[in-house]
Amino acid sequence: MTQELADRLLAVHERIDAACEQAGRDSSEITLIVVSKFHPVSTIRALESLGVHDFGENRHQEAQQKANELTDLDLRWHFIGQLQTKKARQAARYASAIHSIDRVGLVDALASSEHTVDVFVQVNLTAESGRGGVEPGELESLTQHVLETPTLRLRGVMAMAPVDEEPEAAFERLAGYASQVRAIAPDATAISAGMTHDFEKAIQFGATHLRIGTAITGNRP
Ligand SMILES: *Cc1c(COP(=O)(O)O)cnc(C)c1O
Repeated sequence: MTQELADRLLAVHERIDAACEQAGRDSSEITLIVVSKFHPVSTIRALESLGVHDFGENRHQEAQQKANELTDLDLRWHFIGQLQTKKARQAARYASAIHSIDRVGLVDALASSEHTVDVFVQVNLTAESGRGGVEPGELESLTQHVLETPTLRLRGVMAMAPVDEEPEAAFERLAGYASQVRAIAPDATAISAGMTHDFEKAIQFGATHLRIGTAITGNRP
């Protein structure tokens, strides 16, 4: 299993390097987060032995359990799924970053976190509301709210490209939202975007944090 993971990991790194070169970017700007949801801790251990330290999970219970089982490893957990307000403080205990800040209530729940958490404000790029992510019109006020919360360190924006749109167009809009956020939070320079099927395009439009699952782990069980 480790050899297959090593081969796929290498292939993804090569694609990241090629996309960076094409975009005139340095691949050192990129953080690769391997999305390990649904995969057993043995897969995470194997990936750690290959040098991966950043893992993404989208369900609190699963993430918490894995984090508890793997305390002997030096890992950074990225929470990337919808987060219930009542689970927020628990998630902040193991997560080094929460990518899915999409509402004021979640920010308020994290205000009493025991430690500082890196956060990304998730923006809804689809035409429908309620698809995960704040509506673009509310992005600035939510960003402001995060900035007023001392336990949170705003890193930037996060989004998923809609399934019914060219990813380029979606990522171009996201780059615009990212600069809107940077205008009020100059240190929030990160863009969490790009998955197995679209990460090269995300790199083209400035993504700094790629969330890649299947291309590295293989299909989810
Ligand atoms: C599952 C997931 C990913 C990774 O998806 P792949 O297509 O397997 O690369 C990225 N981001 C989020 C929010 C996810 O839930």
